[in-house]
Amino acid sequence: MSESQVYVVTGASKGLGRSICDILTTNGYTVIGLARSSTELSSLENYLKKMNPKSTTFACDLSCENQIASTAAKMTNDFPVIHGLIHNAGIIGPVGSMFNVETNLWNETIQVNLLAVQQLTKLLYTSMIKAQRCRVTTISSGAAVNSLESWSAYCTSKAGLEMWTRSLADEGSSHGISAVSVAPGIVDTDMQATIRSVSADDFPMVGRFIGFHNNGDLAAPGDVAKSLYKLITKHSMDDSGNRFDVREL
Ligand code: NAP
Repeated sequence: MSESQVYVVTGASKGLGRSICDILTTNGYTVIGLARSSTELSSLENYLKKMNPKSTTFACDLSCENQIASTAAKMTNDFPVIHGLIHNAGIIGPVGSMFNVETNLWNETIQVNLLAVQQLTKLLYTSMIKAQRCRVTTISSGAAVNSLESWSAYCTSKAGLEMWTRSLADEGSSHGISAVSVAPGIVDTDMQATIRSVSADDFPMVGRFIGFHNNGDLAAPGDVAKSLYKLITKHSMDDSGNRFDVREL
C-alpha cells in the first residue's frame, strides 16, 4: 500500500526533513524532497532514487513565490496524485529586538515558514484531492504558543502556521484532506547551531540553548522522525485540526 503513496517533504536537504525522507523511503513511500539547490539536495536525490526510482527532489527557494509556482507546476505534472505533505522547511529568522531586526529578514521568515505553506498547498490542491485521502503535517514549535524574547518573526510564523493548519483541517475535510501540526522538541540540527551562535546581547536566553546542547538534551533527528512516522502516515480524520507534541506521541 505505501509503495503507491506519494509524500512531499519540504526542507528535505538536512536536519529533521532529511530524516523524515529517510523513514518514508525506508517504509516504501515515494518521496518528493524539496529544498534549495545544494550538494545535500543532490545527495538526497541519489539516495532516494536508489531506494525507489519514482522518488525525486525539486530545487525550490520557498522565499520566492515564482519558484514555488514553477516547482508546483512540475510536481503536479509528474505526480498527479499526492497522498501526503510535510511542511517542514523553516528558518529561525532574525534573532534580536523586534525594533532593530532587518525588515527584509523578518518578512523572509514569514514567507518561508508560513506564506510558502499556503502558496504551495494551494497549487498542489488538485493532486491532493485526487488521492481522496491526503494527510498534511506541519512542523511547528513550542514557539507557536510561547513567545521568546528576540524571536518575534519565528514565533509569529509558527503561531500563524498552527492556525493555518486548523483552517486546512476545516476546509479540507470534505475532500478527504486532514491536517495536524506537531512540535518536534529540541532537535540537534543546524537550526539549533544557529541559535547557539547568537550573541547574548541579541538573544538573552542563548545560555539556556547552549546548556541544552552541553547537557545532551537535544534529540537526534532520526529519532524524532521515527516518533513522527505514525502521525505523518496514519493520523485519522478525527485527529485533524489537532496540535501534537512529539514527546507525547
Ligand atoms: P535545518 O536543519 O536548518 O533544516 C531546515 C530545512 O529547511 C533545510 O532543508 C533547508 O534547506 C530548508 N529551507 C530553509 N530555507 C529554505 C528556503 N528558503 N527554501 C527552501 N527550503 C528552505 O532545521 P531543522 O531543525 O531540521 O528544522 C526543521 C523544522 O523543524 C523547521 O520548521 C523548524 O522550525 C522546526 N523546529 C526545529 C526545532 C529544532 O530544535 N531543531 C525545534 C522546533 C521546531 P536548504 O537550506 O538546503 O534550502
